[in-house]
Amino acid sequence: MKIGFIGLGNMGAPMARNLLKAGHELTVFDVVQSNVDALVAHGAGKAKAATTPAAILKEGVEVIVTMLPAAQHVKSVYLGNDGILSGNVDGVILIDSSTIDPMSAREVAKAAAAKKALMLDAPVSGGTGGAEAGTLTFMVGGEEGLYAQMQSLLQAMGKNIVYCGAAGNGQVAKVANNMLLGISMIGTAEAMALGVSLGMDAKVLAGIINTSSGRCWSSDTYNPYPGVLENVPASRGYTGGFGSDLMLKDLGLATEAAKLAKQPVPLGSLAQQVYQTFSLQGNGGLDFSAIIKLFTKK
Ligand code: NAD
Repeated sequence: MKIGFIGLGNMGAPMARNLLKAGHELTVFDVVQSNVDALVAHGAGKAKAATTPAAILKEGVEVIVTMLPAAQHVKSVYLGNDGILSGNVDGVILIDSSTIDPMSAREVAKAAAAKKALMLDAPVSGGTGGAEAGTLTFMVGGEEGLYAQMQSLLQAMGKNIVYCGAAGNGQVAKVANNMLLGISMIGTAEAMALGVSLGMDAKVLAGIINTSSGRCWSSDTYNPYPGVLENVPASRGYTGGFGSDLMLKDLGLATEAAKLAKQPVPLGSLAQQVYQTFSLQGNGGLDFSAIIKLFTKK
């Protein structure tokens, strides 16, 4: 298939590489030229660059995937002057995999439908490791027939492709999951710091938790205590991975959506405030598991 891809960052670049690996031809765009150049070089003739989002349509693409930081970038890429919807999108399939609020996802989907494009919101979980390995989970909102049609394409980048319901529902699933992840990471960090300060070895403590009722993804797959697990950000100075500011963004999406729905999220709100404090102290660029620094001595 001929596919457009916009947003070649930590997640988008490996996802685009997996589409190339599956044999698709790509036309790509990013505001950072070096990201575009790296992907085009990787494509070895199967990937070319476009100069604006709308210019991608001139290459006759059937599908465009976007992987952008936040709602403001998604709106500019779809609704802006040189945005995708400024071109002829009749029958083109648009898949936004960025994590944004459900209301913005529904607004963009409505604008796309008005221009006869077909749109899915398909945010992911699984992190940069999952993006590299092609094992992401996609949470898909939109028309069910379109989801079924796009399943095999998404399988080039992911393992679990889950239908969540109407437009915006993929984002609903994602914000609920990430709110829980933020809460569980703070809880794991607190428990690990407490145990070590009271004299336990961090690895032994993690081993107990991971075979006991405190076990969760933050403890067994992404433990925040340095040296407990290899190949996680905690064991490389909290570099790479999922930035604290992105977690702060997702907690903001959850608490904002909760406010609109008049739904109480007391721990989600607290987690948002904890990450806000961490960000204010200049730690927003560190992986979100670095939150344990709030509970450990320097
Ligand atoms: P990133 O900042 O590394 O990448 C975003 C890319 O979009 C960058 O290359 C940037 O230059 C580009 N960009 C920004 N504005 C643009 C515009 N107007 N036009 C074209 N390109 C533009 O972010 P990321 O880590 O790849 O995350 C992308 C999305 O995926 C976010 O919504 C994030 O919440 C979500 N997400 C991230 C992870 C993770 O572990 N990093 C996991 C799951 C979901």
